[in-house]
Amino acid sequence: MTNIILLGPPGAGKGTQARQLVESRGMVQLSTGDMLREAQAAGSEMGKKVAEVIARGELVTDDIVIGLIREKIAEGAEGGFIFDGFPRTLGQADALGELLAEMGLTLDAVIEMAVDDGALVARITGRSTCGGCGEVYHDQTKPWPADGKCGNCGSSDVKRRADDNEESLKTRLMEYYKKTSPLLGYYYAKGDLRSVDGLQAMEAVAADIAAVLEA
Ligand code: ADP
Ligand code: ADP
Ligand code: ZN
Repeated sequence: MTNIILLGPPGAGKGTQARQLVESRGMVQLSTGDMLREAQAAGSEMGKKVAEVIARGELVTDDIVIGLIREKIAEGAEGGFIFDGFPRTLGQADALGELLAEMGLTLDAVIEMAVDDGALVARITGRSTCGGCGEVYHDQTKPWPADGKCGNCGSSDVKRRADDNEESLKTRLMEYYKKTSPLLGYYYAKGDLRSVDGLQAMEAVAADIAAVLEA
């Protein structure tokens, strides 16, 4: 069983690669962004509380996301966990270490998806996802099939995130540099950090991640 973190700024390709690993290796994707959007869609108290923070592009509090992750880790995963978009602060990283230890689990690798900021505006503003199955599309690099139906599930429900605009991306990037990028040093010091070139085509990124997991 392998447990990994995919670490990178908004638009680096974490969700895209996580879905590939779910397909190819039967791992379980834990995306705190998806969980928070689900809470919002369900109209829960927590969902209402975080809506404005997410819209602005700021991070929600550690307590909330750690609580979400704690519940999911307790459910277990035979193929291992992919942490996608978590941890995003040093506090979250410490909490994850404790949660894994409590469950007798280890962290096998932290994979940095390295990209230039310049590529991220196009990644974010071109992103859409399928409302039926969550498949991630991109207007230029992975367009929807010509018949408008998802190639994975046949749904024609194209979803775009309200926070996928240039204004919010500026804040999200600033949050990334201030609060999340210190995790690169944190995991490097533990000997867990691996880096892949996230600017390559999706298949090449997937191959590099597979090589890290085989090593
Ligand atoms: P993240 O989860 O890190 O925010 P996503 O996986 O949602 O990133 O990818 C952001 C956007 O970029 C999506 O529209 C996706 O289709 C596209 N994308 C992902 N990986 C690549 C890649 N290697 N090359 C080109 N476009 C990509
Ligand atoms: P992206 O795919 O662009 O990296 P996510 O879907 O992971 O974005 O996250 C969307 C938003 O949800 C973030 O901008 C933030 O407001 C909130 N969020 C997600 N994960 C976390 C986390 N681990 N800690 C704090 N806030 C989070
Ligand atoms: Zn679909």
